[in-house]
Amino acid sequence: MLYESTRGKIHSFSAARAIKSGMAPDGGLFVPSVPIHITKQQLNGLVGVSYQERALYILNLFLTDFTPAQLKESITGSYHQKNFPGPKIAPVKKLNAGLYLLELWHGPTGAFKDFALQILPYLLHYAVTKTGEDKKIAILVATSGDTGKAALEGFKDVEGTKIIVFYPAEGVSKIQELQMVTQEGSNVRVVAVRGNFDQTQRGVKEIFKEMPYLLPESPCCFSSANSINWGRLVPQIVYYFSAYLDLQKQGEITPPEEINFVVPTGNFGNILAAFYARQMGLPVRKLICATNQNNVLADFIRTGFYDRNRIFYQTISPSMDILVASNLERLLYEVTGHKAVKVEKWMTDLQEKGRFQVDNDVLEKVKAIFWSDFATDEETLTTIKDTYRQYDYVLDPHTAVGKNVYAKYFSQTGDASKTVLVSTASPFKFCPHVVKAILGEKATQNKSAFELLDVLARTTGLEIPPGLKNLAQKTVRHTLVIDPAGMKQTVINSLTS
Ligand SMILES: *Cc1c(COP(=O)(O)O)cnc(C)c1O
Repeated sequence: MLYESTRGKIHSFSAARAIKSGMAPDGGLFVPSVPIHITKQQLNGLVGVSYQERALYILNLFLTDFTPAQLKESITGSYHQKNFPGPKIAPVKKLNAGLYLLELWHGPTGAFKDFALQILPYLLHYAVTKTGEDKKIAILVATSGDTGKAALEGFKDVEGTKIIVFYPAEGVSKIQELQMVTQEGSNVRVVAVRGNFDQTQRGVKEIFKEMPYLLPESPCCFSSANSINWGRLVPQIVYYFSAYLDLQKQGEITPPEEINFVVPTGNFGNILAAFYARQMGLPVRKLICATNQNNVLADFIRTGFYDRNRIFYQTISPSMDILVASNLERLLYEVTGHKAVKVEKWMTDLQEKGRFQVDNDVLEKVKAIFWSDFATDEETLTTIKDTYRQYDYVLDPHTAVGKNVYAKYFSQTGDASKTVLVSTASPFKFCPHVVKAILGEKATQNKSAFELLDVLARTTGLEIPPGLKNLAQKTVRHTLVIDPAGMKQTVINSLTS
């Protein structure tokens, strides 16, 4: 399988080269040159096997220049009991007759990002070996909160790598910030940027484009741990298959029965992995794209008009506070049948005017697959409260956005297909808002985020995830705060010191 850029100037990259590069050198994103299909027989063959074996099967289809032994080593090094304690790696829980939760937060940092970021260091290691690269790899990350910590955990003390994480100073939850600034490891750097996620992401993308010229003698080559890297997306395709196979195994569905997935969305990475699973032949009816009040994607999927010129809201689902969703570019490339010229034009419009509009036929293709709406913070809090009262199940705010939007989908379409809500984070990661939703504002007053972890555990009988439990005792190691304009210099300093 070879990879090409959505901007049309780069072709015939191996998976290893695509993963090592992160972003394509022409400013585009890597996608597979041809679609991959999986037959009913192949799918059936995966029903009785473990998550690790399902992962091996899917990864092998996309990463054809990696040997099965290398993929196996990457998978067993990532998806093991110590990293993902509990009976299953990606459990599917039944909420009611039609709705299931795919819990993707049993990994080390409590969010779905662990699925890709635990394995990415292995894939990158083999990619570097394969391409004959002898420089160090510098991983640059822009995070809306969860990618940063997951990438730091994945890459800390990994030989031959350095990792620099930029996060928006005011744009992440207290617990997300503490998880990052207390990070240990000799090769890590964590920097707060005075700005929002979009500014932080733009800064990193610019560094990617300019660094080869700014630091021609750089002892490093650059890669990305953001979902612009194809190596982030492939591991995420696996759990969509796994959810379907588990439902089939449990007798909840019978192939070729189609199901829906609801995905709480920000940068459009997670839901794009679902799109690829569907394109491969997984029986999926609709992909429901749930956004918070930063509803630029909901508007786009309804109208074909993408416009980031709007108020940016800081919501209680901060990992989705994004107005420029990077991975939409990949979707546009796919639904136009790989028309790089069109994609380039829209992305230039987005860069220069902050908006673009797709043709009607493209919109129709998008709408045939996706449905979208958004939830306000108030609706999100009510959803957490109601779900807890009705089902004794605790949703984090991101997942609650998804549940609220699914309710809107169901009431507007009447589509009763079985539906899987992708649960993207542990409720403990956002416990002040979850406690407020369940116990009321008063219960949170004069309490630190740490005290609220205990309150949430006592109230619900759930266990605090190990990675969050000892956070209060950890030393803060990273205190640098900079303006977006200082990001380049910070990278240069980190790499040359
Ligand atoms: C990153 C994240 C999202 C959004 O995922 P995208 O791939 O950016 O669309 C949603 N919820 C949580 C908890 C996240 O960490």
